[in-house]
Amino acid sequence: MKAANFQGKGKVVLGDFPNPKIQEQTDAIIRVVRTCVCGSDLWYYRGILDHETGRIGHELIGVIEEVGGDVKELKPGDFVIAPFKFSDGTCANCLAGFQSNCIHGASFSAGTDGGQGQFVRSPYADATLVKVPGSDFSEEMLASFTALSDVMCTGYHAAISAEIKEGDTIAVVGDGAVGLCAIISAKKLGAKRIIALSRNPARQEVAKEFGATDIVSERGQAAIDATMKLTDGVGVNAALECVGSDEAMETAVGITRAGGIVGAVGVPNYDNFKYQSAFWKNVGIRGGIAPARQYIPELLEDVLKGRINPGRVFDLTTDLEHISEAYAAMDERRAIKSLIKVSEL
Ligand SMILES: [Zn+2]
Ligand SMILES: [Zn+2]
Repeated sequence: MKAANFQGKGKVVLGDFPNPKIQEQTDAIIRVVRTCVCGSDLWYYRGILDHETGRIGHELIGVIEEVGGDVKELKPGDFVIAPFKFSDGTCANCLAGFQSNCIHGASFSAGTDGGQGQFVRSPYADATLVKVPGSDFSEEMLASFTALSDVMCTGYHAAISAEIKEGDTIAVVGDGAVGLCAIISAKKLGAKRIIALSRNPARQEVAKEFGATDIVSERGQAAIDATMKLTDGVGVNAALECVGSDEAMETAVGITRAGGIVGAVGVPNYDNFKYQSAFWKNVGIRGGIAPARQYIPELLEDVLKGRINPGRVFDLTTDLEHISEAYAAMDERRAIKSLIKVSEL
């Protein structure tokens, strides 16, 4: 079978690999229909974090090809969304709604063979995979299902963690796919005013489509000043931090009003951020790795009903043969997010 093959910094090519096999009776084998490149895949691509050579990727949707003897809820032919981490559904963390912290779970990339390929093995298939009812879907719908594998759920986790309420004024720091999905999420939870921090005209357009009411294109202290001015010097009820850098976190805390919350889902790469800046403002910081499995059923319903369209974040579509370009386009910021068509539904 064909799959993305990570060969070190700046190099992801198409490779040949053995087909995955059922290893545990709770496994399923998925024929991948769509996969995509994650912002976090770029850390490996850019050499910021280490990744073993070989298969890579963790966001996918597909059709069940084969199931182990203990899989009860799913059968071959079922169309499913895979959250980016698999989970057993039975441990204390899963039962508490934090399947991303499952004590037996792991990322599809680290714990299996990697999601960007023709076939993928899912451990704990019943607990992990979410079945999509129906079979006749538009390209747009398939793109939105793929976004539920990670970015839409991660953006939603920022909004949930920040406890956004009806009528709130909020800001989103970061205009990548997660930041844009955080705008959808803030609107879903009833935020009245949504300030998107973005310098990129194409991303500003998507932000507005998703529900942003104001755009702040400044950065750093100038972005804080501009946002404070928009909020009569008070600041926002919640800031959704979707980057993970020192500057993004300092901006998020800087624009949040006293007593507000920063919903943080940008994977932390802080070196200098000081918690004191949040402490002295009574600003809470909450967030982490999104329990995508917890959110997919609700967000899937929103997609199926046409209430949200997170697939709009994909602005480059390619096939597995062009996996190198899918990475390069995101690395060079020519694309917000790359969708990879692997097979027909
Ligand atoms: Zn991801
Ligand atoms: Zn668990």
